[in-house]
Amino acid sequence: MDVVGCTGCDLLAGRRELPGGILLRTRSWAVNHAVGPMNLGTLIVAPREHVVAVADLDDAATAELGHVLRASARVVETLGRPDQTYVCSWSHGADGRKHLHIAVQPVTAAVVARYGGVRSEQLQARMLASGDEPDADDIARFCDQARELFRGVIGS
Ligand SMILES: [Zn+2]
Repeated sequence: MDVVGCTGCDLLAGRRELPGGILLRTRSWAVNHAVGPMNLGTLIVAPREHVVAVADLDDAATAELGHVLRASARVVETLGRPDQTYVCSWSHGADGRKHLHIAVQPVTAAVVARYGGVRSEQLQARMLASGDEPDADDIARFCDQARELFRGVIGS
């Protein structure tokens, strides 16, 4: 299902600009750079269909998910050398469930320091509230490198 007006569906269908483009497509999943105020190198893993909960994934999507998450984490770790790689999902819209998306986010000591030394969900909250978005050229460069690495990691 493709839902017009859903951010996830609109990005995947090309109705909304997606800096860096789609980095990996499997049967059930797509991976792209985060849009909005997340630090450079944060990837978003989302189902290609409009699925709003892990509980609703079909068997094929479920079987692929571990491989896609691991590949995404390996790409993030290779390019960003983070101290931590967060993997989390908050697909909680103001008025209901949103298109499922799982963030794979590299966090270095410098990123923690930039947001006052807080970690985990507090770090993400400060980052989102800051409105700071990575430079478009930096995203494009990161995505070129990430696309190459995904080819090697998962053979897409
Ligand atoms: Zn959607």
